[in-house]
Amino acid sequence: MAFAKAQRLGQLPPYLFVEIDRQKRAALAAGRDVINLGVGDPDQPTPAFIIERMHTAIGEPKNHRYPFDEGVPEFRHRAAAWMKKRFGVAVEPDRQLITLIGSKEGLAKLPLAVVNPGDVVLVPQPAYPVYNAASIFVGGEVHFMPLSAEGGWLPDLDAIPTQIARRARLMFLNYPNNPTSAVAPREFYDRVVRFARQNNTVVCQDAAYSEVYFDEPPPSILQADGAMDVAVELFSLSKTFNMTGWRLGFAAGCDAIIAALAQVKSNMDSGQFNAIQEAGTVALANQDRVEVRAMLDLYRERRDVLVDGLTRLGWRVERPKATFYVWIRCPDGADSMTTARRLLSEADVVTIPGIGFGRPGEGYIRAALTVPAERIAEAVERIGRVSF
Ligand code: PLP
Repeated sequence: MAFAKAQRLGQLPPYLFVEIDRQKRAALAAGRDVINLGVGDPDQPTPAFIIERMHTAIGEPKNHRYPFDEGVPEFRHRAAAWMKKRFGVAVEPDRQLITLIGSKEGLAKLPLAVVNPGDVVLVPQPAYPVYNAASIFVGGEVHFMPLSAEGGWLPDLDAIPTQIARRARLMFLNYPNNPTSAVAPREFYDRVVRFARQNNTVVCQDAAYSEVYFDEPPPSILQADGAMDVAVELFSLSKTFNMTGWRLGFAAGCDAIIAALAQVKSNMDSGQFNAIQEAGTVALANQDRVEVRAMLDLYRERRDVLVDGLTRLGWRVERPKATFYVWIRCPDGADSMTTARRLLSEADVVTIPGIGFGRPGEGYIRAALTVPAERIAEAVERIGRVSF
């Protein structure tokens, strides 16, 4: 058989981390002491009280059957109560909220629910690559919204050409932002909602990092007037509770959009394992426990070690207010690929070149705070020995 993969796969942008991946594997194979600031995956375990609930839930026969497509009612009701407490936003758990197999599932499937082939999808850049990929998969025409330091890493809505705006059926946003760690102010969401209502555009705000913050709690787009008519916001238990491997999140917002997403889901998956939703219900109800809050102190300490250390060395880096990423300006004259490559070959420190998140990410590298503070201090010391 002459196998040829589907054309849509050929439309995906090249995977720019290949070279860094290869270099990292070679360094590890050579037995070098690599400090990996590349991966955005919490290094700490899931809190014990969540694991304990999972142990009980897994023994319950009611949890062994197919899950409800839209998620177990207890999880949805708890998630709605969490929205009310955290943001003061009222969502009806039976119509305006749906369980997801991680927020990535919602990002990947939402375009199937709202975009027709040839429709414009507005995608920020630099960004998590899934927005672009999921839009390509449904035959959407991607229009990138460049983010910049001058613009506070927020898209300039006025820069979107009118003809494009009129055809835009979906806009992706992500705050707190990966990779730049920017937080969107409440007023920005008001402007987004006005834009969306004018142009008949659905807004998907990816809030996977909503609970990883060191300053004021980041706002929700659903707090903006009229947001419930045009927006859905995707939340995740992955980073808040160190549950990346469990695959649990939820979408909340406009009932018609949630219903369309539910229709896609019921035709493509059968929901998340009920026992995981039961453990997730306990997690959401106990976000104030010390072991959950302690994670933020841990990230804050690591952030300060990295930011203070690099600043002392003369690197230009802002102290992030949220997420566990630090977005670092490359030294003058060095592009992001060269910077990441040299940090790996000369200091055994893995970072991600900004260009891998799209062209406007050029000039920066991303470091994740997912290794202990001592290792970050060690990384800073080694970076100090590399002369750019
Ligand atoms: N959105 C962003 C911006 C991310 O960085 C990630 C994961 O790294 C996700 C979504 C996916 O998170 P989840 O584990 O909830 O699928």
